[in-house]
Amino acid sequence: MDARSLKQQLAQRARETGFSAFGVARSAPVDESWQRSYRQWLDSGCGAEMHYLSNHPQLRSHPAELLPGAQSVISLALNYFHTEQQQADAIIAMYAHGDDYHEVARLMMRPLIEILESHGFEARACVDTAPVRERYWALCSGIAFAGRNGLAIVPDVGSFCFLSEIITTAPLPPDAPLTKTCQGCGKCVEACPGHAIMADGKIDARRCHSYLSIEHRGELPPGTTLRTLYGCDICQRVCPHNQQATETTVSALKLRDTLRDLTLRQVAALTPQTFATLFRHSAVKRAKLTGLQRNLKYLPFPLVPLAPLD
Ligand code: SF4
Ligand code: SF4
Repeated sequence: MDARSLKQQLAQRARETGFSAFGVARSAPVDESWQRSYRQWLDSGCGAEMHYLSNHPQLRSHPAELLPGAQSVISLALNYFHTEQQQADAIIAMYAHGDDYHEVARLMMRPLIEILESHGFEARACVDTAPVRERYWALCSGIAFAGRNGLAIVPDVGSFCFLSEIITTAPLPPDAPLTKTCQGCGKCVEACPGHAIMADGKIDARRCHSYLSIEHRGELPPGTTLRTLYGCDICQRVCPHNQQATETTVSALKLRDTLRDLTLRQVAALTPQTFATLFRHSAVKRAKLTGLQRNLKYLPFPLVPLAPLD
């Protein structure tokens, strides 16, 4: 099979499996300006306590460092948008309403890996675990353009998407980056509760409620008032590119029954055992029980409801 036909087969399988976007970039060193800008972001302290971000700079700089002989990077976007709202007050960012996306996406990538392997190529799946610049590759492969809020925006889908990559030795024909840009309306900047979106479109994690409520250990900076118990997606909720977002077709990513009526009072009463049961196969585990219960102290009373999505 020639490379073009193989790419078509992969793209079709990706669509059938439930991915919303599929694109290919040639495997090459990450553009030096991106690497420099990333280093500056880390050096300025904007990565907060996420010290692992500065680990393995060599691995992040070229896909061939992760898979020797890599020829292509396949970028995939997985839409997790859904319209069902949580009914009580323990509000969790939409990306964590369903099963852990690491597990869901990895399973969904399996058929693509099998196709590549059946043609004698090597392939490595990366789902937010390997040191890969996901947004960079999404832009290079033409599946998304950059938003002012630091997110990748997939045309006609929006930014409520998980990104993942398959690095492969298959020499697939690359796609061109998009020429489209975000509308630059500034709504994300105005709505950001932590004033975390900087002028260059990068995010200062030290001020970002998504980072603070999930990754940060210990007490939050004085004066922090969270809007949601876990994570934050306010800069996505206000973005016009998400007004056309459509319901995900992947049922594992929709709102779990157990979260629909979850209250802050119930969260306060969780024990290690009930936490582990409630958030089994959920990304919420990342915050740990101590982080989730700490967050309770930083929520206003009464809670200010989030504006519903249009
Ligand atoms: S996730 Fe929340 S706090 Fe972070 S940049 Fe977006 S709106 Fe701001
Ligand atoms: S809210 Fe406006 S400025 Fe922000 S990412 Fe969306 S279109 Fe761009």
